[in-house]
Amino acid sequence: MLRSRDRSGPSSSSRKRRGVQRQIRHNQSLVQNLLDVMEPSTCVVDNRGQIIATNHAWRLAAYVDESGHLPVAGSYLDIWQESVGADQNVRAQISAGLERLLAGGPDRLTIDYPCRSGDTERWISLQMAPLREISGAVLSHVDISAAKLAARTMSYQSLHDPLTDLPNRNLLKDRLRQALAWTERTGQSVAVAFLSLDHFARVNERLGHAAGDELLKAVTQRWSVLMRSGDTLARFAGDEFVAVWPGVGSVAEAEGLAQGLFAALSAPFTLNDVPVSVSVSVGVAAGTPPQTPEGLLLAADAAMSDAKNHGRARITVHSDELQEGIHLRLRTETELRAALLQGEFVLHYQPVVDLARGVATGVEALIRWQHPDGLRMPDSFIPAAESSGLIVPMGAWVLGEACRQGALWRSHGLDLQVAVNLSARQVTHPDVVATIRSALRRSGLPPQGLLVEVTESTVMEDADAAAVALRDIAALGVAIAIDDFGTGYSSLVYLKRYALQALKVDRSFVAGMGVNADDDAIVASIVSLARAVGAVCIAEGVETPAQHSALLSLGCDYAQGYLFGRPVPALALGQLLEECARTLGTASEATPTGDARA
Ligand code: C2E
Ligand code: MG
Ligand code: MG
Repeated sequence: MLRSRDRSGPSSSSRKRRGVQRQIRHNQSLVQNLLDVMEPSTCVVDNRGQIIATNHAWRLAAYVDESGHLPVAGSYLDIWQESVGADQNVRAQISAGLERLLAGGPDRLTIDYPCRSGDTERWISLQMAPLREISGAVLSHVDISAAKLAARTMSYQSLHDPLTDLPNRNLLKDRLRQALAWTERTGQSVAVAFLSLDHFARVNERLGHAAGDELLKAVTQRWSVLMRSGDTLARFAGDEFVAVWPGVGSVAEAEGLAQGLFAALSAPFTLNDVPVSVSVSVGVAAGTPPQTPEGLLLAADAAMSDAKNHGRARITVHSDELQEGIHLRLRTETELRAALLQGEFVLHYQPVVDLARGVATGVEALIRWQHPDGLRMPDSFIPAAESSGLIVPMGAWVLGEACRQGALWRSHGLDLQVAVNLSARQVTHPDVVATIRSALRRSGLPPQGLLVEVTESTVMEDADAAAVALRDIAALGVAIAIDDFGTGYSSLVYLKRYALQALKVDRSFVAGMGVNADDDAIVASIVSLARAVGAVCIAEGVETPAQHSALLSLGCDYAQGYLFGRPVPALALGQLLEECARTLGTASEATPTGDARA
């Protein structure tokens, strides 16, 4: 049954009104709750940009200033202006964006802008979306400072060296590009210095990598103070740095600037309480467009390599002649590669004579290049082979061929020890021992039939690596001689350290015998030095009977030189040994009975 209406209660229209009001309050608190659970500081504006609702985060205004509270009513833009105070451009951008949004424009708009909070810079991402039901918009403010900082750090790291904080190779190229573009307007040159620390690996080996890192930082400090604003000092790689001076007037001026960096290293550094001295090899180049950053770096790098090749600790300025030399070397390298493949190399052999017995007991294998234009001597191609690394396969061929020939002579009753020259690159190559072992095994030459010659500078260049290699070579039973003795770094320490069989007196001292008293004294002391370390002494470059008899009377053990025979192909050695025996005045015991041919 229907109940009758209570006519004494409120009218139906006022009840409806209260219901609607309740609904509005309910909706408002729903919106408010929704806003409040939103983490970013958020407000709602009406169609005139007036704030009509704000959330908890907004009221705390944490994103602007922890001390202040943002007004919860009024014009959004005015409040923004007052509290954030970012620049006018950002305000104009927000104003225009909001206008488009309220006019029914895009569904979403994001504007990122920086603002300051005390001393720190913060980044806010303002995200705006329309609220069509009320013809207004929701505006949220997300703090993106951490993300911005991370992005900035990443971009910094991608352009800087983490150890020294200097610009890295990427930034260097960019700076060089800018500097070259700038000179186009000023008519001046950009100067570049390529700096490579000398023997840096030794610091790492002796004091450890941490000390090596300290040294790099200390060097950076000394150099950084010499750079003017606009100059760039970059870490190129490992122990290599590059200085860029935009706007120098001449190469001489560039050289003067490089001299400053060079001199800055003259006082020793202190690492682990140990004084450490380090020098630098510097290559200088200057240029203007159309020179490219890469071209300028290559030119300075080539000049630096030249400084290294000429004994390090010096400055070399890039020049046309240097460039010509580089081209020549590159051409030679290409030709050498082809020559190696086509078998254009041969070995010539020069007898080594036992002075007391008056017989040839060994030969030195010396490489020759049968170039289509004529026979080429080692001095004209060994340097290119060394710098290109081709010396390694070339040297392996020499070892194989010399051992094969030595074994062949033995099979004909000719017992000659074959000497083979090893260059520094070969000695420090990890495969050196395996290469020698395989040459012996393949040829059947006993190890005592082989002697390897290394120069003093090879031994000193990378003393630790050389020590290991020479010890292992000696362990094979192969003899070791120090070649050109007396011309290199005179450290007597290695004479004791290595198992040496022979010291070869450089021919420059032999040439001066009987003419220059100093040379007589030097040869005499090398003879006794060899004896003291249990090695034999071999004199090189003996050309005259006077030198021969002087060496005999000094008690020198062996000799080699034009007097006894020039280097000849294997086929001609038999005849040469007969002539050699005549020169020595005795019939050589080693003269072959049969035909000792290749
Ligand atoms: P080296 O090992 O000191 O060889 C001795 C050089 O002196 C040879 O020059 C030889 O021909 C020359 N010579 C010998 N007796 C006399 C003499 O009485 N008077 C004069 N003026 N010179 C004499 P070569 O053959 O031109 O070799 C030069 C250098 O090239 C060698 O010096 C050696 O360091 C290097 N070399 C030669 N062959 C090879 C090789 O297969 N591998 C490597 N890595 N280097 C080699
Ligand atoms: Mg030699
Ligand atoms: Mg020599």
